[in-house]
Amino acid sequence: MQRAVLVVAAGALVAALACGHDHGPARVRGLPKPDGVPALRGGGPPRTPRLANYKLEATLDADRHTIAGTETLVWTNGGQSPVESLPFHLYLNAFKNEATRFMRSSHGESRGVKASETSWGWIHVESLQMADAQTGALGPELAKTLRYPGGPDDETVAELPLAHPLQPGEHVELHFKFTDQLPEVFARTGFKGDFHMIGQWFPKIGVRVGPPGGERWECQTFHSNSEFFADFGTYDATLTVPATHVVAATGVLTASAEAPGGRRTFTYHAEDVHDFAWMADPYMNTITGQAKVEDGPPVEVRVYYRGEQKDFAYRHLEAAIGTIEKMSTYFYPYPWPVMTVIDPPLDAAMSAGGMEYPTLVTTSGDTVFARPGVRLPEYVTVHEVGHNWFQGLLASNEVEEAWLDEGVNEWADGKVMDELYGARGSLLDWNGWQADIYALRRALSADPASLPSPIAAASYAFADADTYGEATYASTMRALRTLELTYGSAKFAAAMKTYAHTWAWKHPTGRDLFDALGAGLGTDLTWFFGPVFHDVGGLQLAVRSHDCRPHHRPRGVFGEGSGRKVVTEIEEPDTGAWTCEVIVQNTGALHMPVDIALRFADGSELRYVWDDRGRDTWNKRDFERSSKLTDVIIDPDNKLQLDQPLLHHLRVDGDGAAALRAGSWFGTLTHSLMQVVGP
Ligand SMILES: [Zn+2]
Repeated sequence: MQRAVLVVAAGALVAALACGHDHGPARVRGLPKPDGVPALRGGGPPRTPRLANYKLEATLDADRHTIAGTETLVWTNGGQSPVESLPFHLYLNAFKNEATRFMRSSHGESRGVKASETSWGWIHVESLQMADAQTGALGPELAKTLRYPGGPDDETVAELPLAHPLQPGEHVELHFKFTDQLPEVFARTGFKGDFHMIGQWFPKIGVRVGPPGGERWECQTFHSNSEFFADFGTYDATLTVPATHVVAATGVLTASAEAPGGRRTFTYHAEDVHDFAWMADPYMNTITGQAKVEDGPPVEVRVYYRGEQKDFAYRHLEAAIGTIEKMSTYFYPYPWPVMTVIDPPLDAAMSAGGMEYPTLVTTSGDTVFARPGVRLPEYVTVHEVGHNWFQGLLASNEVEEAWLDEGVNEWADGKVMDELYGARGSLLDWNGWQADIYALRRALSADPASLPSPIAAASYAFADADTYGEATYASTMRALRTLELTYGSAKFAAAMKTYAHTWAWKHPTGRDLFDALGAGLGTDLTWFFGPVFHDVGGLQLAVRSHDCRPHHRPRGVFGEGSGRKVVTEIEEPDTGAWTCEVIVQNTGALHMPVDIALRFADGSELRYVWDDRGRDTWNKRDFERSSKLTDVIIDPDNKLQLDQPLLHHLRVDGDGAAALRAGSWFGTLTHSLMQVVGP
């Protein structure tokens, strides 16, 4: 998900845009035909152990915004230790009342959208039965035996104690009946008017993590900074909605039929995914295109949009196609045959937009300010589609290591944007203003109000959403960019591709990424990862001082008695050369090689490297030169993206504030842009 930093469009402006679109009565469109393609692009065997397989049936009451659902879950103990209980996420209970962990941690607000006080959301497990392993017959009712480890106020996780431990390799078949009440959407899932974006809506089992034989459950209560983590499997979902409603969902459409009561039923099938989300809305239109992926058939890309957002729909389509083609080349071929991009109605853009699910994402950014060249809409689509690699395929734990998908994805998004739209102005190329995402993120990180935090912290362990966003998205991106520019783009790209191929279809951890990068870049990077990911401060480089004097041989009194001699500037005039010293400081926690460039009045340049891995806080360079020093520049090639550049350039004859002013044009630009796109 794209939280906090970029997507936050000015709510009032969006609201103003959203007024006045009368779509008239909903009409029944032609019945969509099944996709007629395998759920994995080109078919083929399972790509994962498929530990968690779901059959879901859902009937949407579009007026009450409720879902009557059933679920059959077949879960296999893929570990090497017995399992004594089964925990399930019941995410919708986050929206049940103000006492839940989610509502307390979010204060009932997400990306500037407030929770409705008249539209709570919840999920209730009406029935839970286990099928007999031999006969398949359903056993006694177990719903009353569910425990809630989150305490009396939080029912976002329920736990089923097992009468007999489930041994390694054994599976269990559970049958749920449940009812959802969708909230008016303020955080990803729910309804807005007739629009229904339905995510995290069914009982979803946790993940066994840890070393073989020592596995434990990962299934935490829902916190407002936390996203999701689940095992791969298959999903078969049968969705019944009013016949007027257009439906989009994870996977491929395998059947569609008219149903009694003026309804329609759509059946979807998905393989080797770890979540299932869907959308139902009576006013959506669709445009489609194809992304070419070299290892097989193309990917059909679909954008769902309402008529008033048509111009944006084409921009989202182009961005989605480009992302699939680029990321398939950079990292791993997109493995599913369809990618669906939903552009929520403008009044749900902030609340439902900017979220990723397997093969289906929601986008955002359609505002009056997003003229061609102001590529916020494109960027949101690139980011969300990009998540189909960084979390969809490389299914890291978003609760414990959110940076591993959000931040790594951000770095990858920057590459995609630069290639699709041109490096200098990929994000912004309008009225003479140009910026790419890396530069924008770096500039935003200069905000003195930001609270430095270690990147590698759990999503729920940050002071607030801004601090979480800064570390998770921006600092991670800047750290990877620093490594990329230090070790070379080609080498870094190869290392990331190896990481993707090694960990696709699995659950990589941060340690796995560090190891892959160390191996790929051919060097032990402990010295980098430690301070950058587990410490605060990073690099804090500045030109401390410079001192340049006209060069002459020593003057003064030399010798004793009759041999005493006074040397003045007459005897030893200035030679025309200069004697200088330059001191550069680093007060950050990270110590790494730093390029320093000295420029001189005759146009020449002297470069040297301060190899700061000795952990000195300062470095002094003495030299003589025939021409006068004019500039001291730290990191002249802008490799060290982790540091702010404002104190990196010192003009010797200028006033000290000149460099700060020179750098501040970007701050001004950023500030202006952020008034559009949020803090
Ligand atoms: Zn994201």
